[in-house]
Amino acid sequence: MSQPLVPPSGKKFQIRDYQPGYTGDLTREVAEAEIVSLRIRLNDLQNRLFADRRYALLVILQAIDTGGKDGTINSVFQEVGPLGCSVVSFGVPTEPERAHDYLWRYHRETPERGKVVIFNRSHYESVLVERVKNLVPKDVWRTRYEQINTFEQYLSGQDTVIMKFFLHISKDEQRQRLQERVDDPKKQWKFRHGDLDDRKLWDDYQSAFEDMVDRCNSDVAPWHVVPANKNWYRNVVVARALVERLEKLDLRYPEPEEGIAGLRVV
Ligand code: ADP
Repeated sequence: MSQPLVPPSGKKFQIRDYQPGYTGDLTREVAEAEIVSLRIRLNDLQNRLFADRRYALLVILQAIDTGGKDGTINSVFQEVGPLGCSVVSFGVPTEPERAHDYLWRYHRETPERGKVVIFNRSHYESVLVERVKNLVPKDVWRTRYEQINTFEQYLSGQDTVIMKFFLHISKDEQRQRLQERVDDPKKQWKFRHGDLDDRKLWDDYQSAFEDMVDRCNSDVAPWHVVPANKNWYRNVVVARALVERLEKLDLRYPEPEEGIAGLRVV
């Protein structure tokens, strides 16, 4: 059965209806050829976005630990130059960040017009880790969904295109990926014993992801629920969605100065 990438509105989003191992009718071979051309198209679109300066692009990636945020960024943006594109990763808030309102540290990193910024984790942590680990009480985090919708609506009204990707993996896939981190000397640095404590909270995280998608899947900032067990499928799905969205913007190079036609540079 086919599975929508953006859950339809008007129907409660239930995470159990979305298979993390779904690959549609795509094969690995076809996907690996397609990603090569998608990367080149994305680079071209990013150049246009930069030259055009009318829109900013904010890409948001959320996933459970080992969900593949880093791998997605490295693959999808491989051909995009660093001039107009950057990644911001959000960890545990610092003291000054905690002293501000919770959206402050995210808002100050949003892209200016012409730029792409990728949020590796985002303001959604305020309804994910902060909820699951009881860092804030329920009556605080439950008000945040609406605040986040308002925030994104505001950014969108200021010419920021928002693309949100929830990388959805299965519990068994996470087990394999954590085991690989334990076993592979090149990956051991990524492993922390705390990862196993977080894994015990799997069900709570799934409920939090479910509410995140259900409550904040708006027209201006839709959630893409990306089946992410297979890296090759995940990368193509994210790249396709970005290319399609940017193509809709009709990005244009600015008009050249007058009198250029036929000019000879000596
Ligand atoms: P990543 O896991 O994204 O590759 P890190 O290993 O640096 O990067 O982990 C970042 C950590 O910061 C995660 O454990 C995450 O739960 C935590 N974190 C992010 N945002 C918040 C927040 N708002 N409150 C508490 N912890 C947070």
